[in-house]
Amino acid sequence: MRIVSARRTFTELPEDLVRTERLSSAWFTGKENSGNHVVCAIAFWHGHLAFIVDCEHPYSFPALLCDITDPRVSRYFVFRQELQRTSSTEMRVHYVWGFPEYVNDATLYARAVDREPEAVGIFKRYKRLFEFEFPDPAVEEKGILLQDRWVQCPKCWDAWEEATGLGMAQCPVCKSIVHNPLYTDVLTVSGESFRWLDAV
Ligand SMILES: [Zn+2]
Repeated sequence: MRIVSARRTFTELPEDLVRTERLSSAWFTGKENSGNHVVCAIAFWHGHLAFIVDCEHPYSFPALLCDITDPRVSRYFVFRQELQRTSSTEMRVHYVWGFPEYVNDATLYARAVDREPEAVGIFKRYKRLFEFEFPDPAVEEKGILLQDRWVQCPKCWDAWEEATGLGMAQCPVCKSIVHNPLYTDVLTVSGESFRWLDAV
């Protein structure tokens, strides 16, 4: 999944979201919300969805401030729900989708924001995986399929055996990142699945 800032103003948003202490003008201006971001996790709290992205460090954007440029959700995401009692009469529900270390460790996000090396390293590792998972519209070059699973780099002409199945591939010699010609798009694979299912 990829998002960009929707460039909305405060007046275009629900009042309760604007009142939330987490919402600040930093989400409307500044470099934090510019460009295309890969979504590392999705969280539901205070009644609204937020996308967790990795800019220079993990950052949380209210979903209503974002336009979704790629709706495909990572195959590496898992889900958790949690009920928290906030008082004797009130309860709060949290839902999170994301990579397992994030979903299973409620402290990971805060530790990464505090620049703890281990937590930052986990976020960076998954961010890199998510950047490769689906085709990147910002990249034009595509690897050349030779035979079997061998792919040739369109820039340096070296070839490698491609086994990741991800949308993007990286040349091991010149390090160019190109579209993987062996990738099967999740948006078209469902038809194939039904053909298999109908045949049994
Ligand atoms: Zn190359």
